[in-house]
This record gives sequence, C-alpha cells and structure tokens, in this order.
Amino acid sequence: MKRITIVFLSLLLLLSISGCGKNKGSESNSSDTSSSDSSSSVESAVPVSEKIHSTEVIDGVTYIDGILIVNKTYSLPKSYNYGLTDDTLKAFKKMKNAASKDNIPLEIVSGFRSYEEQEVLYKEYTAENGKKKADTFSARPGYSEHQSGLAIDVNYADFSTVGSKDMKWLDKHCAEYGFIIRFPEGKESITGYDYEPWHLRYVGKDIAKEIKKQGICLEEYLGITSEYKD
Ligand SMILES: [Zn+2]
Repeated sequence: MKRITIVFLSLLLLLSISGCGKNKGSESNSSDTSSSDSSSSVESAVPVSEKIHSTEVIDGVTYIDGILIVNKTYSLPKSYNYGLTDDTLKAFKKMKNAASKDNIPLEIVSGFRSYEEQEVLYKEYTAENGKKKADTFSARPGYSEHQSGLAIDVNYADFSTVGSKDMKWLDKHCAEYGFIIRFPEGKESITGYDYEPWHLRYVGKDIAKEIKKQGICLEEYLGITSEYKD
C-alpha cells in the first residue's frame, strides 16, 4: 500500500513537472486513463489525467479545459460558421489602438474562414505543392483554426516578413490582449505547422500570458497532439 502511494505521489509530481506531455501519440479525453509508462496499473486505479485536463465535445466541437481546440487532431463540424467572435474582435481593436501609438499599423488580413473557403484554399495549395508540403502550412477543411472565429492573420501571411517590426511588436505585446502566436518558432513538430508570426489565436489574457511566460504552444499547454489520422 505504501509503495503504491509513493508511486502515485511521484506520478503526480511527474505530471505536474512535465505539464501536459503525457498524452502524446494518443487522442486523449477525460475518460482516458491509459498511459504508456510502467505505472499504468496505478493510473488505472486513480485517474490522474482526469484531474489535469478535461475534454468536452459539444455538438462536434472539442473543448479542453474549457478552451475550444482546432488542430490536426481535433476538427470542427462543417456547419460551424459563426464569424469572428466578439471577444476576438474587441481584443484586436484594443491591440490595434495600442500598436498605433507605437506607430505600428495593424490590420486583419484574414479572419473567419468557412469550411467551404478552406476547402478551396487547401485544394489550390495541394495542387501547387503536393499534399505533404501543403499540410505544413495550410489546414485541411474542418481543421483550420480560422473556422473557429478565434484566429486572425495580422498584416500579411507571408514568410518573407518573419522578423519585421510589426511581427516583433505582436510577439512582444499580443498576450497583453489575450492572443498567442499560435504556431511558434521551434514548436513545428508539436503544432504540426511552420512558424507563423502573423497567425494569432485568441485565448484570453490569463492563458495567453501564462503560455508566453512558459514559452510553450497551445498543444503543450493542453497536453494534446496535433496529428492527422491519415
Ligand atoms: Zn492564419
């Protein structure tokens, strides 16, 4: 009994240190208590992962710890079609005002994108680049964060602008307004996408600041993967 308690405690400690990386390679949900490591017998008796992250699917939309998630693992229904959320727009307007005081003009060049619009884009990209390459920078229909109404491309969506003045401003300040750089540099293998300094995702100030402070991406924060099934 004592040994089990120790194993359990060290497991808890491990989970709290490693944050959320335990679920990699499997689609986890709140009832999934399996683990690939040796302490799985203990974990099945005490569902530790349940205490760490909760997953809810409402009308085909996945929320992890209450955060709507769209990536290569989690898609949106075709009918999810609501435009940019009020919170996203309000936050952008505040950020735009602040940036203009620093002489940085900010504009949304791509906001909400429907399933059908993404379908057209993705088809074009795969025709030009092949599916494998297209998957590194464009989402398949149903898998684009732009369909969530929580994502915006600011000023341009162009790799030649990496490191520009406005992108540096966004990197430094966007969390103050509730946005994260959704596909950060160095996290390509986790997010499944190339670094995109212009693609911001609204998550709210507290979470954005925490993610920035920890230097992690949303997948790491929520303990999830971003991988297509095929
Ligand atoms: Zn984007």
